[in-house]
Amino acid sequence: MGKLMDEVELVQNGNWIGVWGENWVLAGCASCNGVFVLPPEKVSQRCPFCGQAALAQMNPADDRPIYTQPPELVVPFAAAEGQLRASVSQFAKSLWLAPADLNENTLLGRLQPVYLPMWLVDAQVQGEWQAEMGFDYEIVSHREQFQNSGWQTERVKEKRVRWEQRVGRLNRQYDNQAAPAMEEQARVESKIGRFDRQAPKPFHPGDLQGAVVRLPNRPPEDAWNEAVVGLQTAVSQDCRLACEADHSRGFKWSPRFASQQWSQLLLPLYTSYYLDDDNRAQMVLLHGQTGKLYGTKRASMKRAQRVAGVIAAAAAVFLLLTLALMALGFTIAEDALAWAGLVGVLAVGVGGTAVLPLVYAWYINSSAKQ
Ligand SMILES: [Zn+2]
Repeated sequence: MGKLMDEVELVQNGNWIGVWGENWVLAGCASCNGVFVLPPEKVSQRCPFCGQAALAQMNPADDRPIYTQPPELVVPFAAAEGQLRASVSQFAKSLWLAPADLNENTLLGRLQPVYLPMWLVDAQVQGEWQAEMGFDYEIVSHREQFQNSGWQTERVKEKRVRWEQRVGRLNRQYDNQAAPAMEEQARVESKIGRFDRQAPKPFHPGDLQGAVVRLPNRPPEDAWNEAVVGLQTAVSQDCRLACEADHSRGFKWSPRFASQQWSQLLLPLYTSYYLDDDNRAQMVLLHGQTGKLYGTKRASMKRAQRVAGVIAAAAAVFLLLTLALMALGFTIAEDALAWAGLVGVLAVGVGGTAVLPLVYAWYINSSAKQ
């Protein structure tokens, strides 16, 4: 009986994942510690977030993450294919001496839709507040001016703000206040821009086809402080509207929060990668709504060496020619010495540029490390 109960519990515990997609599995990355839910055919890939390790499948019952509830809302992917292609193409072309793997087709071929988690919290907000409310008004004054040999009166309108101290009491329900559910959220948005959360769609099980979903790694208790900042903005705005004021400043409140309900919103991101000289994946991120791209730039030192080698070889040819002309000049035709000088200068000039590809590749790669 005990064993049967255990098995029943196991099915129930492990079954939470079925809501996300049919046969979906749980997997984790040992490098960035990201945990994902994803279709089974995607589990053998490299981590879609950091690219540094292969994903390892986990048991949804035994390794059940703390936050497994499905999202309430989803911000759909909206960037047009042409937009993505243009971003990727521009990035691939932007780098001289790029590794062979960094090209438009590989990047597009590896494009992976990834949903990032965001917390949404509903809360009942009560408390007292005080603020200075500003009301616009106009004053009209008259100015006398001497013009065209006579005094003229000119009407002058001036805009002013009247500030009044107001206090009030608030008791209101606020829904869907957003707060990051992922430690890396701010870093991602600083690279590709913020997500527009204005038009999310309700989540329906099974409609995240082809995507992988990153689960939250930031507990609601942690994210709550940021949700409160957003709530304060919303509340101060509401108080201003309630006072029919045009401006407000110095908002202070002593809030009490009750019945917080946490749910999730998913944000659309595409990731891709290319392999550098050391076979390390360099990640490329694309905003799922705007197509804006961010990618780490790594030049290929091997290619830089090859280009430097070709330039050095050309310099060597000029040098040999110089020596030949010098030999000719000292023996048969004195005129050749002038030519030897000219070609010698060329040899030194061309030889000097051989270091440029190496310096460029070194510079790009050392600035990419930061
Ligand atoms: Zn990872």
